[in-house]
Amino acid sequence: MQTEVKSTCCYCGVGCGLLIETENGAITGLRGDPEHPANRGRLCTKGATLNQTVNPTYRLQFPERRISRGGARQRLGWEGALDEAAERFAATIRQHGPDSVAFYISGQLLTEDYYVFNKLAKGLIGTNNVDTNSRLCMSSAVAGYKQTLGADAPPCSYADILQAKVIFISGANPAVAHPIVFRYIEDAKAANPDLKIIVADPRRTESAEIADLHLPIKPGSDIALFNGMLHVLIAEGLVDRGYVEAHTSGFEALAEIVKTYSPDKVAGLCGVPAEAIVQAARWFGTSDASLSLYCQGLNQSTHGTHNNAGIIHLHLATGHIGKPGAGPFSLTGQPNAMGGREVGGLANLLSAHRDLANPAHRAEVARLWGIPDVPAKPGKSAVDLFKALKTGEIKAVWIACTNPAQSLPNQAAVREALQAAEYVVLQEAYANTDTAEYADLLLPASGWGEKHGTVTNSERCITRVQPAIQAPGEARHDWEIVVDFARRLGEKLDRTEAGRLFPYASPEEIFNEHRESTRGRDLDITGLSYALLEAQGPQQWPYPEGASAGKVRLYEDGIFPTADGRARFVAVEHKSTAEATTPELPISLLSGRMRDQWHGMSRTGTVPRLFNVEDEPLLAMHPCDMRHRGLESGDLAGVSNGRDALG
Ligand code: SF4
Repeated sequence: MQTEVKSTCCYCGVGCGLLIETENGAITGLRGDPEHPANRGRLCTKGATLNQTVNPTYRLQFPERRISRGGARQRLGWEGALDEAAERFAATIRQHGPDSVAFYISGQLLTEDYYVFNKLAKGLIGTNNVDTNSRLCMSSAVAGYKQTLGADAPPCSYADILQAKVIFISGANPAVAHPIVFRYIEDAKAANPDLKIIVADPRRTESAEIADLHLPIKPGSDIALFNGMLHVLIAEGLVDRGYVEAHTSGFEALAEIVKTYSPDKVAGLCGVPAEAIVQAARWFGTSDASLSLYCQGLNQSTHGTHNNAGIIHLHLATGHIGKPGAGPFSLTGQPNAMGGREVGGLANLLSAHRDLANPAHRAEVARLWGIPDVPAKPGKSAVDLFKALKTGEIKAVWIACTNPAQSLPNQAAVREALQAAEYVVLQEAYANTDTAEYADLLLPASGWGEKHGTVTNSERCITRVQPAIQAPGEARHDWEIVVDFARRLGEKLDRTEAGRLFPYASPEEIFNEHRESTRGRDLDITGLSYALLEAQGPQQWPYPEGASAGKVRLYEDGIFPTADGRARFVAVEHKSTAEATTPELPISLLSGRMRDQWHGMSRTGTVPRLFNVEDEPLLAMHPCDMRHRGLESGDLAGVSNGRDALG
């Protein structure tokens, strides 16, 4: 029998809705969900070929134990595999304490998966060593929003793209990385030719092709640009003084700093003409609605938090926030990095946007979970977690749904860390990732089309994900694996509360607990349920009990979730940092995406059609730099950065 099942695309943070067609237990096709608010039926090439990725050949189908590192694997039953894992983790915890183990998880897990991982580490084991690959992409955005607006909440919606009069894209290349968002930008330009699009990016990217003004700034000079634009806004009387006085604090201190960021000085720092900086500021300041879209170009930096604050300042200074077509809109990289943030899936966060450093927040979570306390000591963040693995401070690590042996920076050190670890568990859908080489125990997880739960996209929109088919072999859902392991670990550690802490028989029970943890918080979803999401479709948070709809736009009343209700300007300064070139290292290397591939390609790399546009990653270089090095297009080039060399 033919059916259609509602799900989402598992790639980028746009979070497009899908209808998966199935017949006799197999996926036979898919189409974009015309009712999903994120994409209204559209899909990019990656999403449109998801049905071609369902190939059991590449899947991890049974638990396996590695007999020797780099050698053969032995198939296990789930009982034996999880008992072994529980015994090894329990022994390590008994001998070396809770902080000797860690969990490294992923923005591609569903919210319910994320929730139980977090509760396992922070609630049962008593360690905050749980971090995620979202650390690499979104932690600067989290901190930037919290520093300025008071909460980790993108205030905009995709609908704002169509209502904006100026779109300022900075450190993002949505034409490649968020294709359906880019379709909205194209729609907006087609509907309103007067729409001004500014793109700040060192490269002339695919997104820059649509720009009315491209600012090819030097890598790492983002804050100089934002401060320079604020300088112009102040000098030309384009600051909304009424908004600043009524709804913000800290403006005068920042205004003092940006006095020195004249267009001429900033032109030197950024490597773009002063007139272009003035033009960008004038367009931004004089429009009725200015919208910023930004992503990894701002986030992945040694001063990523301040990059985010710098662009948010432009909105606070001009009042371009909390109204249609306006606001600072951080685009999420991964499909459920937002959901992970909601349940506190980082080493310094707790459920429902609570802070680990806040004793009252720790007490609230302990009360919700029915445990004496949540440990106060911050856990290791992603990079430090692997450093601690290498030194032996962390001895056992559980990795889920991510491939650090390919994707973390400083690869040689990461691989040494995995080699040095006493015990590595990998919970994965795919059998052949680079990290699998280092795993002592491999646990097969369900993947796209098989999972059920919820995800949250860039615009705070929660979608119910339904399974279309069974996972292959003995693969189990991520949340199920964690819950089963937690109960077994509890037995080994004589922690009788484990069964009470992990009573779940379905992801819905986990969702309901997570929902309760948000009561009264900025992301309150106490009005949502699986039934409502299934009947009425995806909903944006907050959606408190009694509400009839989520919030399309935040801060419309100018009240922010800070102690005094005011948004904050932060003193940010341009600094010459790691991005700066030196005579020994004269070229900046920027990483980007391939439009039709996703992350380490464990899924997209199985679809021949996705190699049609680009068949391999390329190094692009300015023709002058190539000439100086005797390089011609198509040559192989060696690249080194002082840490490592490729080539
Ligand atoms: S990759 Fe992103 S833009 Fe493309 S279909 Fe998936 S969610 Fe939508």
